[in-house]
Amino acid sequence: MGGITGSVLETVLGALPAMRPGEVWLAGAGPGDPALLTLQALAGLRQAELVVHDALIDPRILALASGALVPAGKRGGQPAAHQGDINDELIRLARTGARVLRLKGGDPFVFGRGMDEVAALAAAGIAFRIVPGVTAGLAGLTAALIPATARGVNRALLLATGHGADGAADALDWAAVARLGQPVVLYMGLARIGAIADALVAGGMPATTPAAAIASATLPAQRVLVSTLGALAAEIAASELAAPVIVVIGEIVRLRAELLALMPAITAELAWQPG
Ligand code: SAH
Repeated sequence: MGGITGSVLETVLGALPAMRPGEVWLAGAGPGDPALLTLQALAGLRQAELVVHDALIDPRILALASGALVPAGKRGGQPAAHQGDINDELIRLARTGARVLRLKGGDPFVFGRGMDEVAALAAAGIAFRIVPGVTAGLAGLTAALIPATARGVNRALLLATGHGADGAADALDWAAVARLGQPVVLYMGLARIGAIADALVAGGMPATTPAAAIASATLPAQRVLVSTLGALAAEIAASELAAPVIVVIGEIVRLRAELLALMPAITAELAWQPG
């Protein structure tokens, strides 16, 4: 391991807070690559007797757990987890006195229902700690060689969910987003990218705006599809891109080609090397 010695790493890990019995750590596991796990999440994986994890957590990350793995909310053979079940399960497990790591993808507070779980734990009188994670919407862009911000290109970046029905009370005003003229990152945007792109174009965002879909960001299966706002939905449909996918719309997408042009072929090929 080249530059970082085991003892330095152990010192950093040793200085992290200890997980107490009956305590729940709500931690983000990052976008996928185990190398993007935080040391604090690693400390949680090492200390927890129970690791309650989302379905999408990479098996190489779960393999770092010392304790037992508990897939979240999968009681009764249900295909999808219900949030209420997960909250109840966390409370039940913490009350056994176990040290519990609740491991979620990315950052627990970015489209991760982290607030719901923390509120349920607090209401039940259970001690918890929140461990930040590397969110897919930012790390995914960087891994795809798309800078989230660049001087002279953008002054803001909107992280949005593509989930939810049109006409819902809390639906985003896509015309307002279009008027902002700043790039948009869509989580969970795969299913509704056509409708969202149409709404952005109707709101005045040029159909020629560069756009990209990044699948399995930071993982060996990472794929990047570069297109335009007007063509992205059709190109995704014609491709074999599969979830999880981050969609990014805006002039920053152009910088990927610039970056690739700056890099010798061999470096570009190795630019993202999942660990
Ligand atoms: N809390 C997570 C997001 C949960 S919502 C975070 O901070 O990253 C789930 C969505 O995240 C997926 O629909 C997808 O849009 C995105 N996502 C998560 N991991 C991803 C990955 N490795 N590659 C691309 N998208 C990913």
